[in-house]
Amino acid sequence: MRSYTQFYIDGQWTAPITPRTAEVINPATEEVSGEISLGSPADVDKAVAAARRAFASYSETSVKDRLDLLEAIQAEYIRREAELGEAIMVEMGAPTALANGFHTLLGKGHLGTAIEVLRAFKFEEQRGPTMIRKEPIGVCGLITPWNWPMNQTCVKIFPALAAGCTMILKPPQLAPYSAQILAEMIHAAGVPAGVFNMIQGQGSVIGAALSKHEDVDMISFTGSEPVGVQITKDAADTVKRVGLELGGKSAWIVLDDASLPANVAGATAGMMGNSGQTCSAGSRLLVPASRMDEVKKIAAEAANGVTVGDPAGNFAMGPVVSKSQYNIIQQYIEKGTAEGAELVAGGPGRPEGLDKGWYVKPTVFVGTNDMVIAREEIFGPVLVIIGYDDLDHAVAIANDSNFGLGGYVSGEDVDTCRAVSRRMRTGAIWVNGGFDFNAPFGGYKRSGNGREWGELGFHEYLEVKSVVGW
Ligand code: NDP
Repeated sequence: MRSYTQFYIDGQWTAPITPRTAEVINPATEEVSGEISLGSPADVDKAVAAARRAFASYSETSVKDRLDLLEAIQAEYIRREAELGEAIMVEMGAPTALANGFHTLLGKGHLGTAIEVLRAFKFEEQRGPTMIRKEPIGVCGLITPWNWPMNQTCVKIFPALAAGCTMILKPPQLAPYSAQILAEMIHAAGVPAGVFNMIQGQGSVIGAALSKHEDVDMISFTGSEPVGVQITKDAADTVKRVGLELGGKSAWIVLDDASLPANVAGATAGMMGNSGQTCSAGSRLLVPASRMDEVKKIAAEAANGVTVGDPAGNFAMGPVVSKSQYNIIQQYIEKGTAEGAELVAGGPGRPEGLDKGWYVKPTVFVGTNDMVIAREEIFGPVLVIIGYDDLDHAVAIANDSNFGLGGYVSGEDVDTCRAVSRRMRTGAIWVNGGFDFNAPFGGYKRSGNGREWGELGFHEYLEVKSVVGW
């Protein structure tokens, strides 16, 4: 049993002002895996005051000082990476190979990228008579979700530290352990007191207190659209900057010259990765309508081939994060059938032989873009395949969404792939795969307004000052 009942405030492990704990449930077993403390607004006041005091000196540190700090954290991260992987497996049910692979790698990648970017970053640039200075925005509130816990935490903390900001992290209640270990690493690396603070607890209490706080200059939030809207409203009275990274319903367009076996199977298996709990997942697969029969066969085979089971074992997919997430996904699967979508693989209930744990069947529907299952983010292993008549139709379907986070294009002809990628109204597009820690990540439309990852991620945490007559 894990017990993490202290917060990290002003360089010290600190008991909450009002003691209160909550159980953390392992989604693979439905059993209690440990406990955390739930903070109160008084804890937030204490952490914000510490961050404000620390900002005076930390914002004046040299790039060399900040590089030294980030490199010390990097050494700690590498030393304790396996502990992080284990924590992620227990807290959100990621299979061990994924938890110890891509999950921890993403955090390490953002840290390494922040170091590289900081080495070359121009905080001052003269244009004519004016010096344009990029200065740290101040005290930041960082509010993160559970689905890729290290990715979302590290993509905020390290650019903020690199920029010279101080911060308070509010990790998700559902996946609180990896953030706790990360805070221990940051402490061990010698972060100056008050620069980094962490309070566990409820979003509606800790997250709201940060969003409304007079002395917090900026909120960076990753999570659902309704919470993003609430945070924006809460932050409005104090006119603070709010960076939002929200949900998605991303389209994957398979062009008619693309290999169907490779791309349809890849897109289907990709959708099931991390149990479908990925904001930029290609959850709408757009294929030539004339080849739908072939597509259905390939997708069904790929979905049925995804092994599901105990995250500690050798399975491709673990459970989803919680009972409530399981129930929401089941409702969407029922809704899909009720609204006339054709079920090609999976369906309601748990996979055979799994009676305990929040396991969902890898599910594939063929439907139309007006169906609820094609419009709302399900955040589970459910793929909707939609047929298109021609390229214009494919692009129109892709763009007919409230969201605009990710997008995928598979095809042989590079010029067509590029033309389609230009027409898609979405923040990031992957053409025939690929991966880049420096590619800015963020949404159009209701997928948010921020840009994280790489150099652009630094700008979230910087103010711009013009000094005319330099
Ligand atoms: P939520 O929006 O429910 O929660 C995210 C965080 O916000 C949690 O820490 C939560 O706290 C906190 N929170 C809840 N209510 C408030 C409030 N009123 N004020 C401030 N903070 C609050 O999202 P999920 O955790 O369920 O994550 C899934 C969502 O995140 C999906 O929609 C997904 O698409 C999106 N997402 C977006 C990404 C992107 O980069 N665009 C990346 C990953 C996920 P608590 O611990 O109490 O829940």
